[in-house]
Amino acid sequence: MESIKSFTDNSLSFYRTTHYFERYGEFYTVDQFREYCDWAKTNNTKVYILGNGSNTLFTGKNVKSLVLKNKLIKQVNALPNNTLEVSSSVLVIDVLKYCYENQFESFYYLASVPATIGGALAMNAGRGKQYQLTIYDFVETINFFDFESNCIKTVRKEEVIKGYRETIFTGIKSSLILSATFKFNNKSFKENPIIERCKWSKKNQDNSSPNCGSVFKKADFHILNRFKGFSFGKTAFSSKTYNWILSNSSSSFPIVILIYFVRILHFVQRKVALLEVITVD
Ligand SMILES: Cc1cc2nc3c(=O)[nH]c(=O)nc-3n(C[C@H](O)[C@H](O)[C@H](O)COP(=O)(O)OP(=O)(O)OC[C@H]3O[C@@H](n4cnc5c(N)ncnc54)[C@H](O)[C@@H]3O)c2cc1C
Repeated sequence: MESIKSFTDNSLSFYRTTHYFERYGEFYTVDQFREYCDWAKTNNTKVYILGNGSNTLFTGKNVKSLVLKNKLIKQVNALPNNTLEVSSSVLVIDVLKYCYENQFESFYYLASVPATIGGALAMNAGRGKQYQLTIYDFVETINFFDFESNCIKTVRKEEVIKGYRETIFTGIKSSLILSATFKFNNKSFKENPIIERCKWSKKNQDNSSPNCGSVFKKADFHILNRFKGFSFGKTAFSSKTYNWILSNSSSSFPIVILIYFVRILHFVQRKVALLEVITVD
């Protein structure tokens, strides 16, 4: 397929590691996405849908999966009764700005998250586990293209969510979220919640080097806490923010090694460690 390109790049993951992408494509329509998936099926290749790459870890020097960047048209359509229809390529921050301008209650705790709406919906993005708040608190329906059945489906959130940071779309899947409808309640604000969240993030989160936020969605607190500041080469677990790897190398190998160390320690102590970042090879 002519539109599939090969190149070396460091901008597709927020870890900013450099990789040779053997197969990379961009889709602007559902038909183009379907064509890529047909090609991948014929050529026995895995498909990886890329939003903004803020939760994506490319593990090898060469990436063999067909990486498909979401370039669907960005649309935010206002419907009656405080309802919005948003396409999956729109950035979360743009929805939040719209919500604030219209005095809507919303998922402002995601203001510091550089995600697309598609990525946030696929990941069930939200606040830390103890808060039990996610983007789905505002979702009514999701529209997606299912490659296996070759049709566009509309589902309710109950049919999508599988657990903490997990939905039917999480990981290497060929179901593409196209858009979602959100319903918001009115709320008046004394302070701008977007600015407040960004201040909070600056104080509590470590953005001194490239990162993808939290690394594990489930881990033993004491084990992970011992890794604070632990480094492998120039890449390290942040000493400021728990469960947070700062990447300072062009290679993702040190990140993979740090994750491996954490897993080994969990295994030895018979504890469970589940990755939040999505690994792609
Ligand atoms: C500084 C920082 C802070 C963060 N803070 C938080 C936080 O507070 N809470 C939180 O939950 N996460 C947080 N994250 C992690 C990350 O931003 C989220 O997981 C986010 O939802 C990923 O969105 P993305 O568009 O970058 O997705 P990507 O990383 O591109 O993809 C993630 C997953 O979504 C899938 N996907 C993407 N788009 C689509 C689509 N259209 N259809 C189907 N599947 C799709 C991918 O295939 C993959 O499985 C943070 C990350 C950073 C860098």
